[in-house]
Amino acid sequence: MTTVTMEKRGNIALLIVDNPPVNALSHSVREGLVTQMKVCADDDSVEAVVVSCAGRTFIAGADIKEFATGPKAPHLPDVVQKIENMDKPVVAAIHGTALGGGLEIALGCHYRVALSSAKIGLPEVKLGILPGAGGTQRFPRIAGVENALDAILSGRHIKAKTAASWGTIDEVVEADLVDAAIEFAKGAIGKGPRRTGEMEIDGSKYGQAFFDAFRKSVARKTRGYFAPEKCIQCIEAAVNLPLKEGLAFERAAIGECFVHPQARALQHMFFAERQVARIPGISKETPRREINKVGIIGAGTMGGGIAMNFANAGIPVTILEVEQAVLDRGLGVVRKNYERTASKGKISTEEVEARMSRFTGTMSYDDLSDCDLIIEAVFETMEIKKKVFTALDAVAKPGAILASNTSYLDVDAIAQVTSRPADVLGLHFFSPANVMRLLEIVRAEATAPDVLATCVDLAKKIGKVGVVSGVCHGFIGNRMLAQYGREAGLNIIEGNMPHEVDKALFDFGMPMGPMTMSDMAGLDIGYMNRKGMDRADYDTRAADWIDRIVEQDRKGLKTGAGIYDYDEGSRVPKPSLTVMEIIEEESAKLGIERIKKTEEEIVERSVLALINEGAKILEEGIAYRASDIDVVYANGYGFPPYRGGPMHYADQIGLANVYAKICANAEKYGERWWKPAPLLKELAEAGSSFADYDRKNAS
Ligand code: NAD
Repeated sequence: MTTVTMEKRGNIALLIVDNPPVNALSHSVREGLVTQMKVCADDDSVEAVVVSCAGRTFIAGADIKEFATGPKAPHLPDVVQKIENMDKPVVAAIHGTALGGGLEIALGCHYRVALSSAKIGLPEVKLGILPGAGGTQRFPRIAGVENALDAILSGRHIKAKTAASWGTIDEVVEADLVDAAIEFAKGAIGKGPRRTGEMEIDGSKYGQAFFDAFRKSVARKTRGYFAPEKCIQCIEAAVNLPLKEGLAFERAAIGECFVHPQARALQHMFFAERQVARIPGISKETPRREINKVGIIGAGTMGGGIAMNFANAGIPVTILEVEQAVLDRGLGVVRKNYERTASKGKISTEEVEARMSRFTGTMSYDDLSDCDLIIEAVFETMEIKKKVFTALDAVAKPGAILASNTSYLDVDAIAQVTSRPADVLGLHFFSPANVMRLLEIVRAEATAPDVLATCVDLAKKIGKVGVVSGVCHGFIGNRMLAQYGREAGLNIIEGNMPHEVDKALFDFGMPMGPMTMSDMAGLDIGYMNRKGMDRADYDTRAADWIDRIVEQDRKGLKTGAGIYDYDEGSRVPKPSLTVMEIIEEESAKLGIERIKKTEEEIVERSVLALINEGAKILEEGIAYRASDIDVVYANGYGFPPYRGGPMHYADQIGLANVYAKICANAEKYGERWWKPAPLLKELAEAGSSFADYDRKNAS
């Protein structure tokens, strides 16, 4: 198929790349560009060239499908070089997004004209690699070293006007892009080519001290990641080496990235996030319900944050509370959140008011009668939830979707109190709900396909990654978290101190250790939960020491003390002598001889528990795919994306190894928590993987 065509416009050759949907740089596009450049070079009547794209965007990146097989020649760096080597001026006409390889092509062109709505970017780092077709060498030359570091390390999209202020775009136009690019090309005929690769960077400003300071400034964000450091090294090479040597350096660096397990993990996450919206039984043809107005019940920690998502997307929200004072407090928190965002310059003060104007407060259920979706976020007790849903059933209009934000409770039981269980499902947001990307969409027994489809679409609309879960205690995420938390608690009662367990898991890549996280969330929640449970239903050894801490009014960060001590006004955890004494006493009470585990053993125990539970969740059909579980755990619980989520991580270790280790733990710690998931056993014995399991189920 011809994907690159040429039209003559007088003495200008207009190349048109047409490879729907996003003009990805497939083999045919690369070959087409090389062929057409040669035609233009050989045709004396052509004095300048414009590279443009059909459809909705400029070349939006590499063909990621080729990552697995390795691309065929002509390779992208050679294509870019051939364009740059042209003796006739070449102008890129950019609309939509010029991303990754697409931008590298544009950087090979001698000039760039863009629509003001266009964006450019080098997002490779997000896939564990780097811009490997000269991007790390040309971008700093044309945009400046600081801007290149910003763009390449963040992978973010950059608006055309910003890019123009960096010198990367020569002209920004509001309309008629191709005509403007042709005019620009005519003007460039006299000037000839201006090759980015031949530009020089004044290295005197960018010595070792500059790069050391930059590394320090991004250290927190890039902790544990392999590719960002390689990107920095490449940009250093752009400063210090001539183009050819810099390109060779870049080539070697991308080679290291490609073979690194992080690249596979991050690419897995990329595809996994795109898979979540594929739901068995739901297609484009499944009808959707219109969501033009949303109701929220409860303006507490979650209700306010959930409401913000809709207000941000332009959807009006009515929030119901039990008392005016509580409602005012909730809306006050929302306003403060917006004002904080405005003070950082991320939104204007007018936007704060525009968003606030979408909120209506009420204490009457009648005011929810015109809502298309109502989300309940009241206290976590079945009795209250049932009362709320009974009230909702009485007022909600026919066809309204009724959702619960419950963390653990049985959504089927909630649905059953209504006369319309088909309209009920769980929408489990994570805290803070206006920030966290994950949304678990809990499909209850009777949930109608169009309700589910509507919510899957809605998740995307409000900027969330929505993963469908079946009904079980804690759904996908909290059910797994329980295993992880228990094993961390057991490691402590058996010999390690909280800060040691936290350090091990932090070093593994978690944003914080489980004990720090518990202090942040508040220890009283789990405490109260356990008081309502039968002691036979949880591992008292992992929890009793925490209960003793809570009974000393150490409820976590909010009371200034929990598993850790905190200095006045500080959020930095400090090991607590009181707590360490309690732990030692509790171990002694249980007759445990305290033996310290290594960091590796601590991590392995918690992560294996996650994997085993994940396998059960998969087998029970609670999650549709292993990759969905990875998306949940990475986006909701901070499992390092560069490890690809627990299930991908298990595949990387090898399921036979994982299974053997879980069997060994069953011997050592007993079968109660360590009985291997039958699916894990089956896949391990078949030499298979979770990825294979997903592939088979998809076909
Ligand atoms: P919260 O205590 O901060 O807020 C609950 C609010 O609901 C309170 O403002 C209360 O006045 C109001 N409320 C109680 N009964 C009501 C009723 N009958 N009608 C109207 N309003 C009523 O609790 P939260 O942390 O926001 O949790 C709410 C729900 O979200 C729970 O089901 C919880 O399990 C779930 N959840 C919480 C988190 C979290 O991290 N806090 C995360 C995910 C899900």
